[in-house]
Amino acid sequence: MKTEETVLEIDLSALEKNIKYLRSRLKPETRFLAVVKASSYGNNSLEIASYIERKNLANYFAVAFTSEGIALRERELKLPILVLHPQAVNFEDIIKYNLEPTLYSKRILTQFLDFAKDKHLEHYPVHIKCNTGLNRLGFDLEEMDDVLPLLKNNPHISVKTAYSHLAASEDMNEREFTKNQIALFVKFQKKIDATFDYKVIYHQCNTSGILNYPEAQFDMVRCGIGMYGFANDASLQPNMTPIAALKSVISQIHQLKTGDSLGYNRGYIADRPTHTATIPVGHADGINRIYGKGKGYVFINGEKAPILGNVCMDMILVDITSIDCKEGDEVIVFDRNHTAEALAESAGTISYELITSMAHRIKRIYKE
Ligand SMILES: *Cc1c(COP(=O)(O)O)cnc(C)c1O
Repeated sequence: MKTEETVLEIDLSALEKNIKYLRSRLKPETRFLAVVKASSYGNNSLEIASYIERKNLANYFAVAFTSEGIALRERELKLPILVLHPQAVNFEDIIKYNLEPTLYSKRILTQFLDFAKDKHLEHYPVHIKCNTGLNRLGFDLEEMDDVLPLLKNNPHISVKTAYSHLAASEDMNEREFTKNQIALFVKFQKKIDATFDYKVIYHQCNTSGILNYPEAQFDMVRCGIGMYGFANDASLQPNMTPIAALKSVISQIHQLKTGDSLGYNRGYIADRPTHTATIPVGHADGINRIYGKGKGYVFINGEKAPILGNVCMDMILVDITSIDCKEGDEVIVFDRNHTAEALAESAGTISYELITSMAHRIKRIYKE
């Protein structure tokens, strides 16, 4: 479909295919948690999570912040929703919207236990975060000796899962570090299992964990970027399809003479006669200024057009001197063949950052 404005086209059947591929790498009994934080990595969680739930593709959802979980419940989604990073100020909403908090520090754990007692909650589902080396959120192994007695036989809560997060699962140079993280998580598992007379679910793998460490599946995996079509690995990428395509259009063409300048702060000075195209997508849309000055590029009629000068808030200006094109022609910023990962790399960043930056104002078009 040819576009006449800036749009993000999202292919839901590719989402399904990616999830099925990732699940084919798991044992049949391993549960699949779909990470739909950050607007489902820029794709809009309401559409993505509704599709996943309707098609029965996952067992669990996770969001980073409570507000994201509330939005899913307001859309009447039914799957359990784990909140990866709550604060005490969120507890009222968490129980009101039937969300499940992660308890990651002694402070938040005591705060939640006091709250649960106060509200007479019964067996409210909570998740324990274990720190195995990322040093971001979670209890250290030694802390578990203080923490587990507070949870054991506590009638107000029930520990549904315990989890940890890998720091470098996509990096084969860090294999030893990752193996140590996995071994340390097994130690957490032993302590936790010895505490409760009910079954706790364990999970540690993100997308690259699923692909590179099948031995660390435990009972569930947490998958984000892979669902959206990125394998973080060139040899595995052919099995996956990026679900989103950012398309735009040439609004206007300019012909610069040698010495003419282009854009704000005269960020580009033509050293030869230069034809430029103005495209309605800018840093307010997620194409950060780091893509300017010749680093980033778009594709027009199959040819690469570098971004010249500074990225504006609502526009980029690209070099079309050697491209046969006209005003109104379609522009591909990224799609399944010209990947967001490659564009991100051109500016020294990663696919995760580029795709989660896509602005709300960009129209999303979903196709199945
Ligand atoms: C974001 C996140 C994930 C998903 O990671 P991907 O690499 O996108 O699969 C999993 N677990 C936690 C704790 C996260 O914050």
